[in-house]
Amino acid sequence: MDERSWAERDAAVVWHGFTDMAAYLGHCPVVVERAEGHELIGTDGRRYLDAISSLWVNTMGHRVPELDQAVRDQLELVAHSTLLGHGNRAVVELAEALAGVVPVHDPHFLFASDGASAVEQALKLAFQFWALQGVRGRTTYLAFGAAYHGDTVGALSLGADDGFGAGLFSPLRFPVLRAPGFDDPACFDVACRMVDANAGRLAAVVVEPLVQGAAGMQMAAPEGFVALADACRAADVLLVHDEVATGFGRTGTLFATEQCGRRARPDLLCLGKGITGGYLPMAVTVAAGRIFDAFTGAGAAFAHGHSYGGNSLAAAVALRHLRLLGERDVLANVAARSAQLAALLAERVAPLAGAGAARVKGLMCGVDVAAGTGRAVCDRAVAAGVLLRPIGDTVIVVPPLTITAAEIERIVDVLAGAIGQRSAPR
Ligand SMILES: *Cc1c(COP(=O)(O)O)cnc(C)c1O
Repeated sequence: MDERSWAERDAAVVWHGFTDMAAYLGHCPVVVERAEGHELIGTDGRRYLDAISSLWVNTMGHRVPELDQAVRDQLELVAHSTLLGHGNRAVVELAEALAGVVPVHDPHFLFASDGASAVEQALKLAFQFWALQGVRGRTTYLAFGAAYHGDTVGALSLGADDGFGAGLFSPLRFPVLRAPGFDDPACFDVACRMVDANAGRLAAVVVEPLVQGAAGMQMAAPEGFVALADACRAADVLLVHDEVATGFGRTGTLFATEQCGRRARPDLLCLGKGITGGYLPMAVTVAAGRIFDAFTGAGAAFAHGHSYGGNSLAAAVALRHLRLLGERDVLANVAARSAQLAALLAERVAPLAGAGAARVKGLMCGVDVAAGTGRAVCDRAVAAGVLLRPIGDTVIVVPPLTITAAEIERIVDVLAGAIGQRSAPR
C-alpha cells in the first residue's frame, strides 16, 4: 500500500499546466475520483460544486446518462479512425448537424482536438487561402489587446502581449497588428481603422465575439463586431471568430456570433471546449464556402491535419450533446440563471469591501476582488465545497449551463463568504 495521499502521489509525477508546482500541495488540490451531476467527488469522498465547469468545458454536468450512453454506443462501432483521406460515419453525422446551426455561410468542418489547434488551423487556412490565389503580402493578422486564443505558438502570437506566458515566449511569437482590448470603448473604431489602413498586409482579423474570457471576462456590445465585419468585407480581409469559450450556449445563444446578427458572420469560426459537453477533447475550425472553394484546385490540399482530428467517440458524444441542448431547453436555463447570478452578485457581493466590478454574460462571469486576494478567495471557496479558480484578481464563475437556482445561491453565498473573510493581501 502506498501511504502517501493522492495529492502527494499526484504532485510527485503529474505536471500541471499554469500551476506553480512548488506551491501546488499548499493550495490543497482536489484529486477527483468521480462525479455526480454538477459535483466532483475527491479521492477523500468530499464533494465540490464544479463552478468553473472543469475549465469552461462542461455544459450539462458530469455523467449525463444520454451522453454516457452515446459513448458506449459508439464504442460498439469504432473508437477512432483517421480523417486524412478517409471518412467516419459519426463525424459525417456531427458535421451535418452542426452545419444547420453554426453562424457561417455554407460551412465546412475541419476537426482537431484542442481549441488552440482550431485557432492554428484558422491561421494557416487564412494564410494558404491568399497564397493559393497568388495574392502576395497578406501574411499578417490583426488581434485585440487582452485576447487569448490558446497556448500553441501561433495562437500565443495572437494572444495579448502580456498574457499567459506571452512575455516569456515573445522571441518565438510572430508579430501581429494589435487593436486595444475590450476594456477600451474605442477598440472597434481603432481596429476598423487599422484594417482599412493595412488591408494589403492582412490575411485575417481574429477576435473573441462578445466576451474575452481569459482576459477576466471583458465584454463588448454586438455593434462593434458588426462594424468590424463590415470593415473586413470592405478591405477584403478574412474574419475569424474564436468561439472556443463562447460557443455551445455559454453566452445565452448557441453561438455568441448570433447576438451580433448575420452581418457579423465570420469567414472562419473556431469551436472547442463545450462542443462535447466536456466529455472528450474535440475542436473544429468551420470554414465558409468561400474559403473551402479556394482549396479545390489541383494541388490545393490544406497543408495541415491532426492524428486524432475527428475522433469518433468525441463526434458521437458531440452530436448527442447538440441534440440534448435543444431537448432540455438549456438556453432558457442559461437566461434565467444568468439574470439570477447578476442580481445576487449585485445584492450580496458588490457591497463587500473586498469586491470590485462583476461582469456577467450568459453563464460567463468575472468578479474582480481586491488586489492580491484572487488566489486566497478561491482557496477558501474550494475549502467550502465550491470549486472556483481566479485569473489574477478576477474570480471566474462559469457554472454548468444546467446549474440550478439553489446552486447559484450557494455559489454566490460561498463567494461572498470567501471575500468577506479577512486575509492579508499577498
Ligand atoms: C480556452 C480557449 C482557447 C484554447 O483552447 P484549448 O482547448 O485550451 O487549447 C482558445 N480560445 C479561447 C477563446 C479560449 O477560451
